[in-house]
Amino acid sequence: MLKLKGVTMNFGGIIALNNVEIDVDEGKIIGLIGPNGAGKTTVFNVILGLYTPNRGYIRFENSDITNKKTYQIAVMGISRTFQNIRLFRELTVLDNVRIAFHKNVKYSLLDAILRNKKFIKEEEEYLKKAEELLKIFGLYEKRNELAKNLPYGEQRKLEIVRALATSPKLLLLDEPAAGMNPQETQELKNLIKFIKEKFNLTILLIEHDMSVVMDICERIYVLDYGEVIAEGTPVEIKRNPRVIKAYLGEG
Ligand code: ATP
Repeated sequence: MLKLKGVTMNFGGIIALNNVEIDVDEGKIIGLIGPNGAGKTTVFNVILGLYTPNRGYIRFENSDITNKKTYQIAVMGISRTFQNIRLFRELTVLDNVRIAFHKNVKYSLLDAILRNKKFIKEEEEYLKKAEELLKIFGLYEKRNELAKNLPYGEQRKLEIVRALATSPKLLLLDEPAAGMNPQETQELKNLIKFIKEKFNLTILLIEHDMSVVMDICERIYVLDYGEVIAEGTPVEIKRNPRVIKAYLGEG
């Protein structure tokens, strides 16, 4: 479904990605792990067209997306969440999801649309869809609360709901468990497995919490200094001496 071939990305003198090769098969949950600064987020950013790689290419469902713009890639069916939560904090839970139905429109305009009481037909449809999504995720009762007032775990959940509003085929999750307590982390694992089935998704997941990665990923790629140093099943990765040395530690 997604293929990165020989992807190299330089920032000035820094080689953030060096000849990266990643294959993501449809319907799988694939993990992307590695030490801080290894290049994981840069992988997401090149997939989404925020940066154009210096070398190599990226294919998504048989289309070359290497030089496409972010909004074009979103329309093709790739959606993401961020390492640091990026909700519209001053908007309600519901509006945070409704906003996602609008593609390639400036936020100020979106805000104006959302506050306009005379909804056009399209808006009514978006509203219904947003409400349905919030029901599925148990956030419907909180739809009128401001996003900033939700507990941390629910803010993370809302980000995922928002990412799903565009009906993606491939979902990129950037450290979804960051800052979560053990109970929230357990719920997150179940949530990711649930959405994969319910929405027929393929998922590429960056995560430092090894219990999440090992429990839910079918295959894992390990990055170190911008290079893929290992690829395999969770069991293979746990035993790989190079991965243990670079990332997992001896303990
Ligand atoms: P973390 O686990 O800490 O989030 P990461 O594996 O996601 O790290 P990246 O954020 O992809 O790592 O960064 C890889 C390297 O590229 C780092 O050395 C980083 O400083 C550098 N880098 C990333 N984006 C830029 C940029 N826009 N300009 C300059 N350097 C960058």
